Amino acid sequence: MKRVLITGAAGFLGSHLCDKFIENGFYVIGMDNLITGSLENIEHLFPNKNFEFYHHDVTKFVHVPGELHYILHFASPASPIDYLKMPIQTLKVGSLGTHNLLGLARAKKARILVASTSEVYGDPLVHPQSEEYWGNVNPVGPRGVYDEAKRFQEAMTLAYHRYHGVETRIVRIFNTYGPRMRLDDGRVLPAFMGQALRGEDLTVFGDGTQTRSFCYVDDLIEGIYRLLFSDYTLPMNLGNPSEISIKDFAEEIIKLTGTKNKIVYKPLPQDDPKQRCPDITKAKQILGWEPKIGREEGLKRTYEYFAKKIKKNA
Ligand code: UDP
Repeated sequence: MKRVLITGAAGFLGSHLCDKFIENGFYVIGMDNLITGSLENIEHLFPNKNFEFYHHDVTKFVHVPGELHYILHFASPASPIDYLKMPIQTLKVGSLGTHNLLGLARAKKARILVASTSEVYGDPLVHPQSEEYWGNVNPVGPRGVYDEAKRFQEAMTLAYHRYHGVETRIVRIFNTYGPRMRLDDGRVLPAFMGQALRGEDLTVFGDGTQTRSFCYVDDLIEGIYRLLFSDYTLPMNLGNPSEISIKDFAEEIIKLTGTKNKIVYKPLPQDDPKQRCPDITKAKQILGWEPKIGREEGLKRTYEYFAKKIKKNA
Protein backbone atom coordinates (compact mmCIF):
# COMPACT_ATOMS: atom_id res chain seq x y z
CA MET A 1 0.00 0.00 0.00
CA LYS A 2 1.43 3.41 -0.98
CA ARG A 3 1.70 5.93 1.85
CA VAL A 4 0.97 9.62 1.37
CA LEU A 5 1.49 12.55 3.75
CA ILE A 6 -0.96 15.45 3.31
CA THR A 7 -0.21 18.67 5.19
CA GLY A 8 -3.07 21.05 5.83
CA ALA A 9 -5.21 17.92 6.00
CA ALA A 10 -7.95 19.55 8.08
CA GLY A 11 -8.29 22.48 5.68
CA PHE A 12 -10.53 23.00 2.68
CA LEU A 13 -8.32 21.49 -0.04
CA GLY A 14 -6.32 19.21 2.26
CA SER A 15 -9.42 17.42 3.50
CA HIS A 16 -10.73 16.84 -0.03
CA LEU A 17 -7.29 15.46 -0.98
CA CYS A 18 -7.42 13.07 2.00
CA ASP A 19 -10.77 11.77 0.66
CA LYS A 20 -9.40 11.41 -2.86
CA PHE A 21 -6.35 9.39 -1.78
CA ILE A 22 -8.36 7.20 0.60
CA GLU A 23 -10.85 6.46 -2.21
CA ASN A 24 -7.94 5.49 -4.46
CA GLY A 25 -6.50 2.95 -2.04
CA PHE A 26 -3.68 4.89 -0.37
CA TYR A 27 -2.65 4.96 3.29
CA VAL A 28 -3.11 8.62 4.26
CA ILE A 29 -1.27 10.47 7.01
CA GLY A 30 -2.96 13.82 7.56
CA MET A 31 -1.04 16.59 9.32
CA ASP A 32 -2.34 19.95 10.53
CA ASN A 33 -1.71 22.41 13.36
CA LEU A 34 -5.38 23.46 13.19
CA ILE A 35 -4.77 27.23 13.15
CA THR A 36 -7.14 27.59 10.20
CA GLY A 37 -8.23 23.99 9.58
CA SER A 38 -11.01 22.15 11.39
CA LEU A 39 -11.21 18.52 12.51
CA GLU A 40 -14.83 18.55 11.40
CA ASN A 41 -13.56 18.35 7.81
CA ILE A 42 -11.89 14.98 8.43
CA GLU A 43 -13.79 13.47 11.34
CA HIS A 44 -15.46 11.01 8.93
CA LEU A 45 -11.98 9.60 8.18
CA PHE A 46 -10.97 8.84 11.77
CA PRO A 47 -12.60 5.38 11.87
CA ASN A 48 -10.81 4.43 8.62
CA LYS A 49 -7.88 2.08 9.27
CA ASN A 50 -6.00 3.61 6.34
CA PHE A 51 -6.03 7.09 7.86
CA GLU A 52 -4.13 8.64 10.72
CA PHE A 53 -3.82 12.21 11.90
CA TYR A 54 -0.82 14.07 13.36
CA HIS A 55 -1.48 17.35 15.13
CA HIS A 56 1.76 19.06 14.16
CA ASP A 57 3.13 22.39 12.91
CA VAL A 58 5.24 21.71 9.80
CA THR A 59 7.48 24.70 10.47
CA LYS A 60 9.01 22.48 13.20
CA PHE A 61 10.99 19.36 12.25
CA VAL A 62 8.64 16.84 10.64
CA HIS A 63 9.04 13.22 11.65
CA VAL A 64 7.02 10.48 9.99
CA PRO A 65 7.97 6.90 10.88
CA GLY A 66 8.08 4.27 8.14
CA GLU A 67 7.90 4.49 4.41
CA LEU A 68 6.52 7.48 2.56
CA HIS A 69 5.88 7.54 -1.17
CA TYR A 70 4.14 10.87 -1.71
CA ILE A 71 3.89 14.22 0.09
CA LEU A 72 1.32 16.91 -0.68
CA HIS A 73 2.11 20.21 1.02
CA PHE A 74 -1.18 22.10 1.46
CA ALA A 75 -0.64 23.69 4.87
CA SER A 76 -0.96 27.49 4.86
CA PRO A 77 -3.38 30.23 5.76
CA ALA A 78 -4.83 30.95 2.31
CA SER A 79 -7.44 33.67 2.52
CA PRO A 80 -6.43 37.34 2.57
CA ILE A 81 -7.89 37.97 6.03
CA ASP A 82 -6.19 34.85 7.43
CA TYR A 83 -2.77 35.78 6.20
CA LEU A 84 -3.23 39.37 7.33
CA LYS A 85 -4.02 38.03 10.80
CA MET A 86 -1.16 35.52 10.72
CA PRO A 87 1.55 37.10 8.57
CA ILE A 88 4.51 35.42 10.26
CA GLN A 89 2.96 31.93 10.32
CA THR A 90 2.13 32.42 6.62
CA LEU A 91 5.72 33.30 5.77
CA LYS A 92 7.06 30.46 7.90
CA VAL A 93 4.84 27.68 6.54
CA GLY A 94 5.67 28.58 2.93
CA SER A 95 9.41 28.82 3.62
CA LEU A 96 10.51 26.80 6.69
CA GLY A 97 7.60 24.36 6.34
CA THR A 98 8.39 23.75 2.68
CA HIS A 99 12.07 23.27 3.52
CA ASN A 100 11.23 20.65 6.16
CA LEU A 101 8.96 18.76 3.78
CA LEU A 102 11.47 18.85 0.94
CA GLY A 103 14.03 17.45 3.37
CA LEU A 104 11.57 14.72 4.34
CA ALA A 105 10.88 13.95 0.67
CA ARG A 106 14.60 13.64 0.05
CA ALA A 107 15.17 11.39 3.07
CA LYS A 108 12.22 9.11 2.19
CA LYS A 109 12.76 9.23 -1.59
CA ALA A 110 9.17 10.43 -1.84
CA ARG A 111 7.64 12.51 -4.61
CA ILE A 112 6.41 15.89 -3.34
CA LEU A 113 3.74 18.19 -4.74
CA VAL A 114 3.53 21.70 -3.30
CA ALA A 115 0.51 24.01 -3.40
CA SER A 116 1.38 27.31 -5.01
CA THR A 117 -1.07 29.98 -6.06
CA SER A 118 -2.21 32.45 -8.68
CA GLU A 119 -1.00 35.06 -6.16
CA VAL A 120 2.52 34.50 -7.50
CA TYR A 121 1.29 36.62 -10.44
CA GLY A 122 0.35 39.45 -8.03
CA ASP A 123 -1.78 42.15 -9.70
CA PRO A 124 -1.10 40.77 -13.16
CA LEU A 125 -0.22 42.93 -16.17
CA VAL A 126 -0.68 39.97 -18.54
CA HIS A 127 -4.09 38.43 -19.12
CA PRO A 128 -4.95 35.57 -18.92
CA GLN A 129 -1.99 34.40 -16.85
CA SER A 130 0.18 31.67 -18.33
CA GLU A 131 2.93 29.91 -16.39
CA GLU A 132 5.61 31.85 -18.30
CA TYR A 133 4.48 35.19 -16.81
CA TRP A 134 6.73 36.27 -13.92
CA GLY A 135 4.12 38.34 -12.14
CA ASN A 136 3.66 41.77 -10.61
CA VAL A 137 3.94 41.32 -6.85
CA ASN A 138 4.34 43.99 -4.18
CA PRO A 139 6.71 42.25 -1.74
CA VAL A 140 6.06 44.70 1.10
CA GLY A 141 2.28 45.14 0.76
CA PRO A 142 -0.22 43.29 2.97
CA ARG A 143 -0.46 40.34 0.55
CA GLY A 144 3.33 40.11 0.24
CA VAL A 145 3.56 37.67 3.16
CA TYR A 146 1.62 35.07 1.19
CA ASP A 147 2.82 35.90 -2.32
CA GLU A 148 6.50 35.95 -1.42
CA ALA A 149 6.28 32.82 0.75
CA LYS A 150 4.76 30.97 -2.21
CA ARG A 151 7.33 32.38 -4.64
CA PHE A 152 10.12 31.28 -2.29
CA GLN A 153 8.43 27.89 -2.03
CA GLU A 154 8.54 27.46 -5.82
CA ALA A 155 12.23 28.45 -5.95
CA MET A 156 13.13 26.11 -3.07
CA THR A 157 11.17 23.23 -4.59
CA LEU A 158 12.91 23.55 -7.94
CA ALA A 159 16.28 23.87 -6.19
CA TYR A 160 15.67 20.52 -4.44
CA HIS A 161 14.65 19.05 -7.76
CA ARG A 162 17.68 20.35 -9.66
CA TYR A 163 20.32 19.98 -6.95
CA HIS A 164 19.15 16.87 -5.05
CA GLY A 165 17.11 15.19 -7.78
CA VAL A 166 13.96 15.11 -5.62
CA GLU A 167 10.82 14.37 -7.64
CA THR A 168 8.77 17.56 -7.35
CA ARG A 169 5.50 18.97 -8.69
CA ILE A 170 4.18 22.53 -8.32
CA VAL A 171 0.52 23.48 -8.77
CA ARG A 172 -0.52 27.13 -9.08
CA ILE A 173 -4.07 27.12 -7.78
CA PHE A 174 -6.54 29.79 -8.88
CA ASN A 175 -9.66 30.71 -6.87
CA THR A 176 -11.39 27.49 -5.82
CA TYR A 177 -14.66 27.02 -3.94
CA GLY A 178 -16.89 24.31 -2.57
CA PRO A 179 -18.01 22.54 0.59
CA ARG A 180 -15.67 22.82 3.63
CA MET A 181 -14.65 26.40 2.99
CA ARG A 182 -14.95 28.33 6.23
CA LEU A 183 -17.92 30.68 6.36
CA ASP A 184 -15.76 33.24 8.15
CA ASP A 185 -12.59 32.97 6.06
CA GLY A 186 -13.33 36.33 4.44
CA ARG A 187 -13.17 35.08 0.87
CA VAL A 188 -15.73 36.39 -1.49
CA LEU A 189 -17.85 33.28 -1.94
CA PRO A 190 -18.35 32.34 1.75
CA ALA A 191 -18.74 36.05 2.51
CA PHE A 192 -21.59 36.48 -0.01
CA MET A 193 -23.30 33.19 0.82
CA GLY A 194 -23.03 33.82 4.57
CA GLN A 195 -24.49 37.30 4.11
CA ALA A 196 -27.36 35.97 1.96
CA LEU A 197 -28.14 33.27 4.53
CA ARG A 198 -28.08 35.69 7.47
CA GLY A 199 -30.22 38.26 5.62
CA GLU A 200 -27.45 40.85 5.32
CA ASP A 201 -26.42 42.99 2.35
CA LEU A 202 -23.65 41.64 0.12
CA THR A 203 -20.39 43.57 0.52
CA VAL A 204 -18.69 44.22 -2.82
CA PHE A 205 -15.22 45.71 -2.39
CA GLY A 206 -14.32 48.58 -4.74
CA ASP A 207 -16.60 49.07 -7.74
CA GLY A 208 -16.84 45.32 -8.35
CA THR A 209 -15.25 45.46 -11.82
CA GLN A 210 -12.28 43.35 -10.64
CA THR A 211 -12.52 39.80 -11.97
CA ARG A 212 -11.90 36.30 -10.65
CA SER A 213 -12.35 32.84 -12.19
CA PHE A 214 -13.83 30.25 -9.85
CA CYS A 215 -13.11 26.53 -9.98
CA TYR A 216 -15.25 23.93 -8.21
CA VAL A 217 -13.22 21.90 -5.73
CA ASP A 218 -13.85 18.45 -7.28
CA ASP A 219 -12.38 19.62 -10.59
CA LEU A 220 -9.31 21.03 -8.89
CA ILE A 221 -8.70 17.88 -6.84
CA GLU A 222 -8.83 15.75 -10.00
CA GLY A 223 -6.29 18.08 -11.66
CA ILE A 224 -3.92 17.87 -8.67
CA TYR A 225 -4.17 14.08 -8.67
CA ARG A 226 -3.29 13.94 -12.36
CA LEU A 227 -0.41 16.39 -11.93
CA LEU A 228 1.12 14.31 -9.12
CA PHE A 229 1.19 11.24 -11.36
CA SER A 230 2.41 13.11 -14.45
CA ASP A 231 6.11 13.71 -15.07
CA TYR A 232 5.81 17.50 -15.35
CA THR A 233 8.08 19.35 -12.91
CA LEU A 234 7.62 23.04 -13.73
CA PRO A 235 4.74 25.01 -12.17
CA MET A 236 1.33 24.27 -13.66
CA ASN A 237 -1.82 26.43 -13.46
CA LEU A 238 -5.03 24.75 -12.39
CA GLY A 239 -8.29 26.67 -12.31
CA ASN A 240 -11.45 27.40 -14.22
CA PRO A 241 -10.98 29.99 -16.97
CA SER A 242 -14.61 31.14 -16.80
CA GLU A 243 -14.03 34.75 -15.66
CA ILE A 244 -16.58 36.99 -13.96
CA SER A 245 -16.57 40.44 -12.34
CA ILE A 246 -17.19 40.47 -8.58
CA LYS A 247 -20.31 42.60 -9.09
CA ASP A 248 -21.79 40.06 -11.53
CA PHE A 249 -20.79 37.30 -9.13
CA ALA A 250 -22.74 39.02 -6.35
CA GLU A 251 -25.76 39.22 -8.70
CA GLU A 252 -25.47 35.48 -9.42
CA ILE A 253 -25.50 34.73 -5.70
CA ILE A 254 -28.47 37.03 -5.11
CA LYS A 255 -30.36 35.15 -7.84
CA LEU A 256 -29.33 31.71 -6.59
CA THR A 257 -30.20 32.37 -2.95
CA GLY A 258 -33.32 34.45 -3.62
CA THR A 259 -32.20 36.92 -0.95
CA LYS A 260 -34.10 40.21 -0.75
CA ASN A 261 -30.93 41.96 0.30
CA LYS A 262 -28.86 44.12 -2.00
CA ILE A 263 -25.26 44.98 -2.84
CA VAL A 264 -23.38 47.53 -0.73
CA TYR A 265 -19.97 48.87 -1.72
CA LYS A 266 -16.97 48.88 0.62
CA PRO A 267 -13.39 50.12 0.06
CA LEU A 268 -11.14 47.94 -2.09
CA PRO A 269 -8.35 46.31 -0.03
CA GLN A 270 -4.76 47.35 -0.90
CA ASP A 271 -3.15 45.50 -3.84
CA ASP A 272 -6.36 43.61 -4.67
CA PRO A 273 -5.68 42.11 -8.13
CA LYS A 274 -7.82 43.79 -10.83
CA GLN A 275 -8.17 40.71 -12.99
CA ARG A 276 -7.38 37.06 -12.68
CA CYS A 277 -7.93 34.22 -15.12
CA PRO A 278 -5.83 31.12 -15.66
CA ASP A 279 -4.41 30.07 -19.00
CA ILE A 280 -4.81 26.28 -18.66
CA THR A 281 -3.35 25.26 -22.03
CA LYS A 282 -0.61 23.25 -20.29
CA ALA A 283 -3.00 21.35 -18.03
CA LYS A 284 -5.17 20.50 -21.05
CA GLN A 285 -2.23 19.29 -23.13
CA ILE A 286 -0.20 17.52 -20.46
CA LEU A 287 -2.88 16.19 -18.09
CA GLY A 288 -5.84 16.03 -20.47
CA TRP A 289 -7.62 18.00 -17.76
CA GLU A 290 -10.16 20.78 -17.80
CA PRO A 291 -12.92 21.76 -15.38
CA LYS A 292 -16.27 20.04 -15.88
CA ILE A 293 -18.48 21.64 -13.23
CA GLY A 294 -19.82 25.07 -14.16
CA ARG A 295 -20.63 27.83 -11.69
CA GLU A 296 -24.36 27.19 -11.71
CA GLU A 297 -23.96 23.61 -10.49
CA GLY A 298 -20.96 24.32 -8.25
CA LEU A 299 -22.60 27.26 -6.53
CA LYS A 300 -25.75 25.23 -5.92
CA ARG A 301 -23.80 22.43 -4.23
CA THR A 302 -21.81 24.91 -2.13
CA TYR A 303 -24.92 26.82 -1.08
CA GLU A 304 -26.54 23.59 0.14
CA TYR A 305 -23.45 22.94 2.28
CA PHE A 306 -23.45 26.42 3.84
CA ALA A 307 -27.22 26.40 4.40
CA LYS A 308 -26.95 23.09 6.31
CA LYS A 309 -23.97 24.34 8.28
CA ILE A 310 -25.70 27.55 9.37
CA LYS A 311 -28.81 25.58 10.38
CA LYS A 312 -26.69 23.12 12.39
CA ASN A 313 -24.90 25.91 14.25
CA ALA A 314 -28.06 27.96 14.87
N1 UDP B 1 -14.44 40.65 -2.16
C1 UDP B 1 -15.61 41.38 -2.09
N2 UDP B 1 -16.41 41.25 -0.98
C2 UDP B 1 -16.09 40.44 0.07
C3 UDP B 1 -14.91 39.67 -0.01
C4 UDP B 1 -14.10 39.81 -1.14
O1 UDP B 1 -15.94 42.14 -3.02
O2 UDP B 1 -16.87 40.40 1.06
C5 UDP B 1 -13.60 40.78 -3.37
C6 UDP B 1 -12.12 41.01 -3.11
O3 UDP B 1 -11.84 42.39 -2.94
C7 UDP B 1 -11.50 40.46 -4.37
C8 UDP B 1 -12.44 39.30 -4.75
O4 UDP B 1 -13.66 39.55 -4.08
O5 UDP B 1 -11.52 41.41 -5.41
C9 UDP B 1 -11.92 37.93 -4.36
O6 UDP B 1 -11.51 38.00 -3.02
P1 UDP B 1 -11.07 36.76 -2.16
O7 UDP B 1 -10.80 37.26 -0.78
O8 UDP B 1 -12.07 35.68 -2.32
O9 UDP B 1 -9.72 36.19 -2.79
P2 UDP B 1 -8.55 36.77 -3.72
O10 UDP B 1 -8.91 36.28 -5.07
O11 UDP B 1 -8.52 38.28 -3.68
O12 UDP B 1 -7.34 36.17 -3.16
